Amino acid sequence: MDSRVVGVLGGGQLGRMVVEAANNRNISVAILDKKASPAKQISSHHGVDGSFTNAQAIRELASKCDILTVEIEHVDTNVLEELEKESLAQGKQIEVQPSWETIRVIQDKYLQKKRLIDAHVDVAESRLLTTVSREELQKVSNQIGLPFMLKACKGAYDGRGNHPVRTPEDFEPSMEALHGRELYAEKWADFAMELAVMVVKIKNEADPLIWESSTKSFPTVETVHQDSICKLVYAPARELSRELNEQAQKLARRAVASFKGKGVFGVEMFLLKDDSILVNEIAPRPHNSGHYTIEACRLSQYDAHLLAILDRPISAKGLQLLRPAIMLNILGGADPNSYLSLANAADAAGAKVHLYGKGSATKGRKMGHLTLVGDSMPELEEEIHHLIRAADRLHD
Ligand code: ATP
Ligand code: MG
Ligand code: MG
Repeated sequence: MDSRVVGVLGGGQLGRMVVEAANNRNISVAILDKKASPAKQISSHHGVDGSFTNAQAIRELASKCDILTVEIEHVDTNVLEELEKESLAQGKQIEVQPSWETIRVIQDKYLQKKRLIDAHVDVAESRLLTTVSREELQKVSNQIGLPFMLKACKGAYDGRGNHPVRTPEDFEPSMEALHGRELYAEKWADFAMELAVMVVKIKNEADPLIWESSTKSFPTVETVHQDSICKLVYAPARELSRELNEQAQKLARRAVASFKGKGVFGVEMFLLKDDSILVNEIAPRPHNSGHYTIEACRLSQYDAHLLAILDRPISAKGLQLLRPAIMLNILGGADPNSYLSLANAADAAGAKVHLYGKGSATKGRKMGHLTLVGDSMPELEEEIHHLIRAADRLHD
């Protein structure tokens, strides 16, 4: 088995599931995050206690590893760049996968959009705000129309960085909500469905033209968000024609092929009512919309990520959907422990439950998820109905 040690920046739930996959393959993983973070709780390898935004802590992690990867894109990419260059000069290769440059571009959503446009990947029209003021918001509303989504360029996750602007009355509250951050306005996508594809990049080259040889992909799934947070994932996407499915697959793979480096990437897309598809955003790592792969595919997105960064073979068959699945996120409710009642109900329903070990919950925080696999999507929809209702009750 591979003796290289994989260092992961970030020890949240995604890191924890990377560790689970690594343990099954006897791959050593060292985690950089706070002590007792979700990933550290299940890892006996010696990681680093500290922050993935701290240069010194990242250097310490690198000293224990052969290859560095991320479970979150909001990391210090300057030190990753330095480490790679220094290691090249010293002859001890520290690989960063995906490339620090890819992480740097993707962590700024506006830069990410520009890169996708250069690669001829369709995205929603957007405008960078030059100042944060009523006048500027009025100007962009004249350009891209109302409603639009005001978005923070950096540091965004789970909708914390988004504010919908429906009328001029929303100008002030949106500026207040996103105070102090660099912002851009994105044209409203009046979508029929949100889609996602987990793409596995297996070559370093950044070239959208070679997408067929540089990428492989998991199936196209349907995602349902509430208040900008992912709530449900249906695998496969319900009522998606073969043509649109193929279009989504190709778009996602071309988009990821335009970035340097290897590993799994989550591609979120909007299927518009005229059947055109836009890329919403890309994550350079495993993603919430790919959790279902743990139970529904031979290889999980976490397996695929490790195999890709370690240059090990990945069979396309391993990425196929074996059975339909529905994933429901277990989010924190008003009461710190109320999410456990949903986990219990899921156990009783025979779902596969994943709890992340985050302790007591705050409202809307991702505490776990559940996956139901079955023979047909209509059966699964019927089975999961009461769990969705229970999840909704937690947030009322
Ligand atoms: P993630 O946790 O996936 O990183 P995020 O905080 O980066 O999320 P986005 O993916 O930009 O946020 O948006 C979250 C959700 O908000 C989308 O999945 C979609 O439901 C809605 N949304 C975002 N942008 C738009 C848009 N331009 N038009 C309509 N809805 C949008
Ligand atoms: Mg995002
Ligand atoms: Mg998103």
